[in-house]
Amino acid sequence: MRKNNPKSIALICLLLSGMVTLPGQILAEKGKPKADPPNIIVIFADDLGYGDLGVFGHPSNQTPHLDRMAFEGQKWTNFYVAAPVCTPSRAGLLTGRLPIRSGMSSDKRRVLFPDSNGGLPQSEITIARALKESGYQTAAVGKWHLGHQSPYLPTDHGFDSYFGIPYSNDMDKVEKTDHFTLAETERYQAYNVPLLRDKEEVERPADQRTITKRYTEEVVGKIQNMKDKGPFFIYLAHSLPHIPLFRSEAFKDASIGGIYGDVIEEIDWSVGQILETLRQEGIAENTLVVFTSDNGPWHTFKTHGGTAGLLRGAKGGTFEGGMREPTIFWWPGKIKPAVVADMGTTMDLLPTFCALSGTSLPEDRVYDGYDISPLLMGTGNGERETVFYYRGQQVYAVRLGDYKAHFITQLEYGNPTAHPVTNPAVPLENGPTVLEEPLLYNVNIDPGERFNIASDHPEVIAAIREVLARHKAGIVPVENQLEK
Ligand code: MG
Repeated sequence: MRKNNPKSIALICLLLSGMVTLPGQILAEKGKPKADPPNIIVIFADDLGYGDLGVFGHPSNQTPHLDRMAFEGQKWTNFYVAAPVCTPSRAGLLTGRLPIRSGMSSDKRRVLFPDSNGGLPQSEITIARALKESGYQTAAVGKWHLGHQSPYLPTDHGFDSYFGIPYSNDMDKVEKTDHFTLAETERYQAYNVPLLRDKEEVERPADQRTITKRYTEEVVGKIQNMKDKGPFFIYLAHSLPHIPLFRSEAFKDASIGGIYGDVIEEIDWSVGQILETLRQEGIAENTLVVFTSDNGPWHTFKTHGGTAGLLRGAKGGTFEGGMREPTIFWWPGKIKPAVVADMGTTMDLLPTFCALSGTSLPEDRVYDGYDISPLLMGTGNGERETVFYYRGQQVYAVRLGDYKAHFITQLEYGNPTAHPVTNPAVPLENGPTVLEEPLLYNVNIDPGERFNIASDHPEVIAAIREVLARHKAGIVPVENQLEK
């Protein structure tokens, strides 16, 4: 496991000679069934920023359970999502593929809405469907946002059960709503979102004041029910801290960080409940738990949105704050405790889970993820050297090793005056701006992307252009699901 990447220039030479494997070139692997495959739980927060957790540096939000999880496991500091907004980010995590490959990204409609007719196509193989072939029991709890009608719902995609709000918690607005002034009783009634059990609507509007608590109880119940029946995979996608914010009675004013802090601290409590259940049931040492978030904080909503910490940018944008997420892996006795600065992405989870369970990767498609289990176990190095930063269907930026080049820039979602751009030399516009001269940053030395070093490294720009050209050549157009 490397601490930093002094080999970047050597890597660039290798890349130009065609000796480096890029994502999207992964060859199918034949799985060998494992005798004792691990249980797997993915906890996916919504719009939680890189800087929102105590263990990632937040001075007010107290997250002792996530902090402990990180100290007992691995804290990943260069871990990315597949897109800076909800729907495509979730498609990337569950399929191991960039959302553009499944038609789950768009320049016209950034996410799915209640009037959308599309969703994750049946031709895609989710983590749940892949693991079912190895005998896993599967459950989805929380926000789905990959299509709210059949055949796009979780139980159409390999999950045995589903309990949650099928899209964002701010949808189905009944009237123009002010997030900041409505009392929580009125606020939840102003968003007429359904709560589903499997495919059936069981509550509308969903009482979001207790949603984190109820998702947690559902997961704890699933663990207790499934633990003796074989391995299980649980996907818990919290509806929060996406606005509008809600917390249960016990967390009202519990945090010195205001309502956003309360929401984060309830999510931290939830993590504590889940890990404690695993310990009490005696299955902690056979369960891998991953915690991360779908995209950066939503700055539009000021103190009701989170923070990307020292990273620049936020939700919707392709600076680091939009797509680098606070990520923790935990598996007592198996994962080597460490802080990992290697690059990883949510698209790596599917190949990694397949490797850990002995599940074959389907052979008929391109994957954008790598098996990162050697890094988790401390037995080998990571293979990833690139990250593609998509906004909709366009690649705005590319990371190669330590370096990241921006080819198109655009403001994040939100009010730019609330979070001034930190580099006045780089004017950002509300619309996309194609740069004649790309911006270049060393994002290990300069994670805040403050100091453009493009003129010092033309060879790096050339190498990244080559990476981008090869990547674009491998993208096959498919039917767009967000525009249906
Ligand atoms: Mg989100």
